[in-house]
Amino acid sequence: MSIAAVSSPSKLHQIKTLISVASTVNHLKQIHASLIHHDHHHDTYLVNLLLKRTLFFRENHYSSLLFSHTQFPNIFLYNTLINGLVNNSLFRETLDLFLSVRKHHGLSLYGFTFPFVLKACIRSQNLTLGIELHPLVVKCGFNRDAGAMTSLLSLYSGSGRVDDARKVFDEMPERTIVSWTAFFSGCISSGKHGDAIGLFKKMVESGVRPDSYSVVRVLSACVQVGDLDSAEWIANLVEEIEMQKNSYVNTTLVNLYTKRGKMEKARSVFDSMGEKDAVTWSTMIQGYASNSLPKEGVELFHQMLREDLKPDQYSIVGFLSSCASLGALDLGEWGSGLIDRDEFLTNLVMGNALIDMYAKCGDMTRGFQVFKDMKEKDRVIMNTAITGLAKNGHVKLSFAVFGQTEKLGISPDGYTFLGLLCGCVHAGLIQDGLRFFNSISSVYSLKRTVEHYGCMVDLWGRAGQLSEAYRLICDMPMKPNAIIWGALLTGCRLVKETRLAERVLKELIALEPWNAGNYVQLSNIYSVNGRWDEAAEVREEMNKKGMKKLPGWSWIELEGTVHEFLADDKSHPLSDKIYAKLEDLGNEMRLMGFVPTTECVMFDVEEEEKETVLGYHSEKLAVALGLISTGHGEVIRVVKNLRVCGDCHEAMKLISKITRREIVVRDNNRFHCFTNGTCSCNDYW
Ligand code: ZN
Ligand code: ZN
Repeated sequence: MSIAAVSSPSKLHQIKTLISVASTVNHLKQIHASLIHHDHHHDTYLVNLLLKRTLFFRENHYSSLLFSHTQFPNIFLYNTLINGLVNNSLFRETLDLFLSVRKHHGLSLYGFTFPFVLKACIRSQNLTLGIELHPLVVKCGFNRDAGAMTSLLSLYSGSGRVDDARKVFDEMPERTIVSWTAFFSGCISSGKHGDAIGLFKKMVESGVRPDSYSVVRVLSACVQVGDLDSAEWIANLVEEIEMQKNSYVNTTLVNLYTKRGKMEKARSVFDSMGEKDAVTWSTMIQGYASNSLPKEGVELFHQMLREDLKPDQYSIVGFLSSCASLGALDLGEWGSGLIDRDEFLTNLVMGNALIDMYAKCGDMTRGFQVFKDMKEKDRVIMNTAITGLAKNGHVKLSFAVFGQTEKLGISPDGYTFLGLLCGCVHAGLIQDGLRFFNSISSVYSLKRTVEHYGCMVDLWGRAGQLSEAYRLICDMPMKPNAIIWGALLTGCRLVKETRLAERVLKELIALEPWNAGNYVQLSNIYSVNGRWDEAAEVREEMNKKGMKKLPGWSWIELEGTVHEFLADDKSHPLSDKIYAKLEDLGNEMRLMGFVPTTECVMFDVEEEEKETVLGYHSEKLAVALGLISTGHGEVIRVVKNLRVCGDCHEAMKLISKITRREIVVRDNNRFHCFTNGTCSCNDYW
């Protein structure tokens, strides 16, 4: 078709149609050539149409040529080009064009283009230029334009100029979700999380419906500053307005609920999600680990692997810390094998989790090896190593690690000394303990905390020096708490000092009226001393408060499965064999002259009556399962949630001798390694 006489309206219409249906750039170029041939290429209306189409095909260079070859470019052409370049993400080019037109054509040409240019400034991070344009924007009357004003708001917010952003915000004729979000995002970037959260609430009050981006932004801010009340308010709002939740919102909600310890709610959001990425899985796994639900953490980790997801740093850390709580060494080893060893050795967080797992599972030899192999070390990892070594009885080695701090360029903190003192307590090293305790403030100018005092009370108490311990408590600069009195009680227990214990327990009951163990112990002390009325009174008080004795439970990991036991538990499938094994062992123990002990019972929190002839506390059941399920020479590792009672402790020593097995029991306080009739704690726990 020829374009001979464009001037006629029907011809014009035909060309318009031709341009709009052109399916390739070549078609457009042909039309353009034809326009030039008939000298119609200065018809800005037609050129504008062509320009729109070439920009649509992302022929940016050709579009620019079209524009620059137009003899009298007008504002429409100019806007079309600017708009097209922004849409094609050519922000740099947009700004170049803007600046050159500004130079050559003056103010009149760029009036309408501000919304696009400001957008280009934001997208190309040219914030200064955008802000420079502010007075011009106002001069051209664009302070009534919501789009331009929102862009200015973003520019100020992005530059951290929150006060200027607020001025723009206050002057805005109408506020959309975009402008609100731009404003509170700026507050968040400038660290003003509280302001952002307040703005979000105002926005909702003013009737603007939040979108998922704004929700994620503010929820994250809440979690970051620990304003969990506001976070939960937003979570409820999201439910209320039945917002279409995307995976970011959901993951943020999972994160929030795990932080709040609301694991069931977290899980229900988690389960409601379709596609889940590694971040969501990790958040949930870590949530279980940090909320003392390690079994669930381990199970979810397995499920993650079943769904063919590769474990990342965060999920492996959550998994390892679950294994640490469970004392599940083999499981932890297996999990760490899923990730390249070098990743552990170069990543402080992962390395720390691995050392902690080994430490808590009682294999500090390997834990220490990881520590030594770490490519770099920080204070956290050093503290984990010191505490792990101390709790596993390698006290001198923990001192040696401490001796390296200066060489490593790490300054110790309160936790470092807590680890060291804990080692002194377990090994009964009073002189070393005193030295460290004194150096905390005198050498390192750190503040001694109530926990440090607790260790010292423990240290004196365990050495039987109760008067020293009591004096330290009286001299403390802070009010003694339950940890302090608990440490003194341990001392009383060891030397069977019931008069002081009675006083201590009364303090403890005042401090933690919910802790049934204190009442049980006090009542036991009264009973042993024949003070039946007082014993009955304590029982009565317990009943009135509806208190139950603490359930003691133990668990053992066998081939990746964790088996849990309560006292006298008969729910395990191998229950018959377990009880038969314990009966056999009981007979042998009696032949060796073993009589279940009763004298310590007054300090046992778990059971008010002494055990039957052959007791079935949970740790014995777990050990028996270990004995019948593993081969000769294998170490049996059991974890218990309470302190091992004196009777079980004696029994374990004998069982280790009879069966020639090493038995490791981790109670809520320390490790007991039973071998050949003795325990690593030297009966000192
Ligand atoms: Zn026991
Ligand atoms: Zn022991």
